[in-house]
Amino acid sequence: MKILFASAELFPFSKSGGLADMASALPRAFRKRGQEVTAVTPLYSFIDIAKYDIRKSEERFRLRIGAKIYEVELSHCKYEGLDVLLVYTPILCDREYLYGPPGGSYPDNDLRFAIFCHAVVELLRRENYDLCHLNDWHTALAALLAKEAGVQSRIVYTIHNLAYQGIFPPSSLQRCGIDARHFTSEEMEFYGQVNWMKAGIGFADAVTTVSPSYAREILTPEFGCGLDGYLRRHSAKLRGILNGIESALYDPKTDPALPVHFGVDNFAGKAQCKALLCRDFNLEDSARRPLVVFIGRFVAQKGLEWIVEALDALAALPANFIFLGEGEERYHAALEAAALRCGNLRCFFGYDEALSHRLYSGADLLLMPSRFEPCGLNQMIAMRYGTLPVVHAVGGLRDTVHPIGSGVCGEGFPFEDGNACGLIAAVENALTFTVDSPKLESVRRFDMGCDFSIDRCAGEYLYLYRELLSGSLSTKGEL
Ligand code: ADP
Repeated sequence: MKILFASAELFPFSKSGGLADMASALPRAFRKRGQEVTAVTPLYSFIDIAKYDIRKSEERFRLRIGAKIYEVELSHCKYEGLDVLLVYTPILCDREYLYGPPGGSYPDNDLRFAIFCHAVVELLRRENYDLCHLNDWHTALAALLAKEAGVQSRIVYTIHNLAYQGIFPPSSLQRCGIDARHFTSEEMEFYGQVNWMKAGIGFADAVTTVSPSYAREILTPEFGCGLDGYLRRHSAKLRGILNGIESALYDPKTDPALPVHFGVDNFAGKAQCKALLCRDFNLEDSARRPLVVFIGRFVAQKGLEWIVEALDALAALPANFIFLGEGEERYHAALEAAALRCGNLRCFFGYDEALSHRLYSGADLLLMPSRFEPCGLNQMIAMRYGTLPVVHAVGGLRDTVHPIGSGVCGEGFPFEDGNACGLIAAVENALTFTVDSPKLESVRRFDMGCDFSIDRCAGEYLYLYRELLSGSLSTKGEL
């Protein structure tokens, strides 16, 4: 199969979250399975051209969008064997940040990503791809433009997070080169605004999201972010395919970020990782004092409201807590104040890949009380290091974390009550298990052996691609 995989962010060139990880790992997994795949992403000006040996190609083109002409340059590089095409035009790429300064977005993001979408469609016109895989709102418009241009490639559109839909005023239609006839409730109109996510859902041949539970949840008003009705209308082509992680990057036997390595047959190294963390964070190290960590964005989605409400009750428990992340100022302030009040609670504000690996390896428990979670990678990563997840049972967390003793791969502490009390009760229960249960090591071992790999995920996508190309995609829906 010849596949074009388009994403606004792609690790290691650009990253704001799980999308970049998946956009990089999935095409590489396709390649390993013998597919001919090219990833396409913008060449942002902060990308280190020399480091990745990015070379300008001879090929360039002009795009007429609205009343203007935009010159687009193409560059190329290989990343771990994967062919990556990088699209450059100043409006799209000459920025300090991907989407805007912290907490904000650039006012011309519609035009920026419209140019990217038009460029993706131009690539589809120039070369015969069997299939084009689009991701999130930034590339959703390409589904509509491709159909309008008569492109034959099948289109798959993946929703990584329905909360970000790409909503713009009607005036944006013209400058983004979108025909006004698409401004109807069946297509892109959404409460008087233009909604790009709708273009992806409506015009793609198949729509996927990143876990089976999230695929069902987004059909309900509670999780549908206003699009549940529209998604229900298109549910016959909607599938939930669980994301995966690159197992090799998260291997406690070889991870270069760890001070001591360990494996399923020897947990002494894990205890040392914990001891060193406690030393560095000035926390008491004791087998009777489990280490609980949180790693992620400090935003409402990740359950920060419940965490902030529960902080004092949590800190009163016989455990240590470390929070790593960055996000909204009010959560920073609440965590900082709690760290001053409580001797067993620490915070590290910022993005630190190496520290996150040390936390995954040294912790006993990972806290992940997301209000909603399309898939979530943290809990899968934690389990690779024998760290048991305490999660709110929603979306991908429900699909990957099952109660202890269930025998289903991925055991931890899912809780149903989405509030601070539910969270506190789950942490108490998990602490008791960690300190007292003779089964702790066997559960850790079980979790470390679970297959959350991107290879499994790639296999499921390829199955879907084949169904699409052979025209045998079941339209009954499989949710
Ligand atoms: P998101 O909703 O942010 O995409 P995911 O769980 O899908 O959440 O992916 C988050 C990824 O980013 C994980 O690999 C996690 O380890 C990493 N991560 C998040 N915040 C931080 C941080 N502050 N420092 C280091 N890594 C982080």
